Amino acid sequence: MNDYRPETRAVHVPQPPIEGSRPISMPIYQTSGFTFDDPAVMAESMGRPDGAFVYGRYSNPTVRSLELAVAGLEGGEHAIATGSGMGAINVVLLGLLKPGDHFVAQSSLYGGTAAMINELVARFGITVTYVPENDPAALRAAVRPGTRLVYLETISNPMTLVADLPGMCEAARDLGILSVVDNTFATPLLCRPFEHGADIVVHSTTKYLSGHTDVVGGIAVFADRRLYDELWHFAIELGASPDPFASWLTVRGLQTLALRMERHCANAEYLATRLAEHPAVTAVHWPGLVTHPSYELAGKLLPGFGGVFAFDLAGGRAAGERFMSSVRLALLAPSLGGVETLVLHPATTSHRALSPEELRRCGIGEGTVRIAAGIEHPEDLWADVSRALA
Ligand SMILES: *Cc1c(COP(=O)(O)O)cnc(C)c1O
Repeated sequence: MNDYRPETRAVHVPQPPIEGSRPISMPIYQTSGFTFDDPAVMAESMGRPDGAFVYGRYSNPTVRSLELAVAGLEGGEHAIATGSGMGAINVVLLGLLKPGDHFVAQSSLYGGTAAMINELVARFGITVTYVPENDPAALRAAVRPGTRLVYLETISNPMTLVADLPGMCEAARDLGILSVVDNTFATPLLCRPFEHGADIVVHSTTKYLSGHTDVVGGIAVFADRRLYDELWHFAIELGASPDPFASWLTVRGLQTLALRMERHCANAEYLATRLAEHPAVTAVHWPGLVTHPSYELAGKLLPGFGGVFAFDLAGGRAAGERFMSSVRLALLAPSLGGVETLVLHPATTSHRALSPEELRRCGIGEGTVRIAAGIEHPEDLWADVSRALA
């Protein structure tokens, strides 16, 4: 390089060889592409997922680190990381479904997913049948020629219904259709859907997996190699890939997932239990409470019941809005799964696109409040929540 003029040397920055030691934490490979010594290696790496790194939209070592980490936690074979949770969901739905296909979905779905399904139906000639998340007989009855898959969520938002993954995935297998599970609310620490027969697991890594409210991302994990190979090309063509820095933040968050989940679950339990005794509250929706419709199933399926719960205020919409503007420590915000406790009024925010009838179907009332418990001290949280109720 010293033979070149300063203009050229400034462009071609030296990279020190790393030999004899290696970084402890995964570096951020902030590069959009990779250069090759051998044109033959470049040519044969372009078309396959396990070739050398070629181009940032295909893959990148930092992104691959995230894919390997989450695939390992879920007990899957391979994963495709994406720029958002919806990106991962769309890699799977758009990658597997074609016009004329039919699929089955559980009735209570994340708002973005429900809206996307409406698009698939309106614009792509795909049809859907909704069934309860815990009814394998309804799934069996809904399947017909051309049914490709069933779409489930381990724990639903915001009513925290728990899907009967063993029953639903077994029915799907019998019927010869794929099961896709959104495991965002449970994380692989509370549930590994592949152990119950799922074929594909999707996550919004924006939530618990990254855990610090500083990154948007998603990932699709595959139980076997065949499905991964089928969707890898499509994901690249769709352009859903994440950037290395977002992936690095997610890997960094993932390292403390187990510690955070313990506190999220404990804080949710503490707040849900105390709220259930409060006179201003008519119902608390958290699967660890004996009053919850999923209580029994959750006890069999999950070692912990998650950090999100909802409750209904006796005073309806006005009480909900008053609560929202009275909390101080808990932040009024969308999203969940970060270290800070967040509160939300689903009827006017996350679920605003739903008709009154759809809201009723999801069990969401005018006075329903969702809390995503953070990792703060539980007494500080209860002081804030009880003051806001008063
Ligand atoms: C947030 C969320 C999504 C969408 O993920 P984004 O990262 O916002 O695109 C999908 N499913 C569930 C259950 C979620 O909570």
